[in-house]
Amino acid sequence: MIDINGTSNFEPENFDNSNLEKAYTCYFDNKVLIDKTTRNLAILSEDDLKWSGMEFNKHHYLGKTENHAFYASEISKDSNLLENTEIVDLRNLLGLLPDSYFQICSRGIQLVDWHVSNQYCGKCSKPMKQHETERAMCCTCNPVLIYPKISPCIIVLVTKGDYLLLAHNKNFPGDFYSTLAGFIEAGESVEEAIAREIKEEVDIEISNISYYGSQSWPFPSQLMLGFHADYLSGDIKPDGVEIDKADWFHYKDLPQVPPGKISISGMLIESFVSKKLKT
Ligand SMILES: [Zn+2]
Repeated sequence: MIDINGTSNFEPENFDNSNLEKAYTCYFDNKVLIDKTTRNLAILSEDDLKWSGMEFNKHHYLGKTENHAFYASEISKDSNLLENTEIVDLRNLLGLLPDSYFQICSRGIQLVDWHVSNQYCGKCSKPMKQHETERAMCCTCNPVLIYPKISPCIIVLVTKGDYLLLAHNKNFPGDFYSTLAGFIEAGESVEEAIAREIKEEVDIEISNISYYGSQSWPFPSQLMLGFHADYLSGDIKPDGVEIDKADWFHYKDLPQVPPGKISISGMLIESFVSKKLKT
């Protein structure tokens, strides 16, 4: 197996024109292959793959690091697994995998899911083929190309002076709080989605929206667009459907929130708190 090198930079690409050593990450049913001993991502060399006893439907090129050309391998339904490996949810590797490897898996899991989910045409139901030059599936019955699906979402940290608006989602475990988030709907602008989501979830108005940064979040295919915003008016009223509790928390007295290193929600909170601590 190939070792994980924390300093690697990953460059996404669609075609492998390099002579770099090939490195395979393996997926099945939206899950990823890990080494049972290290509990970390299993990265297979060509030899590992050859002698693994595993069967694959397809290998998708993902892009390269300094030393390796990375592939995502679709494990066949009835395949055995390589000795001392197992298939787990990619969430299990959050915080364990260096960023570049999380990016590799994030891309890998989404490309495999796109390929597996688009084997047949939605219009004529005949088998689709992969396009020769584009990373897309296509059918002879119509000219539309089916690219890997990305679902844009907004995620917003609303603040009021020294206070952060944090919410508890009904599905969160225990007393875990986070920033507000939601999918951008068809036909909607980012700004409209932000105003609608905040209004729907906690019934307040906001102003001064500023873009912070984005993150690919492959559970299953979100592109999270992160923003800071200022409170404008209204009293917090959780919608009771998605959000069961929401409140203002002083930056020095926060509940349990996502860590800053893993998710954009954590980064938004951390960036606000560190700015406050400097003033
Ligand atoms: Zn068709």
